[in-house]
Amino acid sequence: MSHYDISRWVDYARNLVPEVQRTPMEAHLNACADCSSALAWLSKVVAAGAAARLSEPPVELVEAARSVFPAPVPVEWPVWAELKRRAAELTYSSLRDPLPAGTRTAHAGFAQVVYRSGPYRVDLRVEGSALVGQVSQEEPAGPGLGVFAVGLLAGKKVMAQAVSNEFGEFCLEYASRSNMRLVVAISKKSCIELPLTPLQLRERGVN
Ligand SMILES: [Zn+2]
Repeated sequence: MSHYDISRWVDYARNLVPEVQRTPMEAHLNACADCSSALAWLSKVVAAGAAARLSEPPVELVEAARSVFPAPVPVEWPVWAELKRRAAELTYSSLRDPLPAGTRTAHAGFAQVVYRSGPYRVDLRVEGSALVGQVSQEEPAGPGLGVFAVGLLAGKKVMAQAVSNEFGEFCLEYASRSNMRLVVAISKKSCIELPLTPLQLRERGVN
């Protein structure tokens, strides 16, 4: 007896076989124990795969996976000094602006700022010796920047650089210096430049 190729049974199990071809395959199944058992096994595999695709993984698991797998490092870091700078506007500072009435301080003790540049919103906060941030795209709502590089500059010196994860989040080793800026590479030729002075006011006692 000649048999159908295994790939045909995979298609059959996935309901990808046209009706005209399905009828002779069913006839073969009735007569062939080998193909019947192969299809039974393939159907289980296909069903398991479909179940895995449908169910959302638990949030804790995703968080854990994100912290275990570091973001990929680009082959070449941008030459920050050569990128065209795009200015950003400071739209919120936890040190400058009072919280809206009724809002609880979500990050008491952390200096927090929000910048806007074109369609991008950049959230930054200092947590201990880390500068934590996220770039998102709000207006118009968009996919954001994907994975991008960020640099921490003091004068012309690159103090630290990092790559964001796919959610636009990044974390940099941070030690306060004068004239610090965060630069966010938004393309191969341009970057958003964010002065960190608003985050440093507290350290200088200007709170
Ligand atoms: Zn067969």
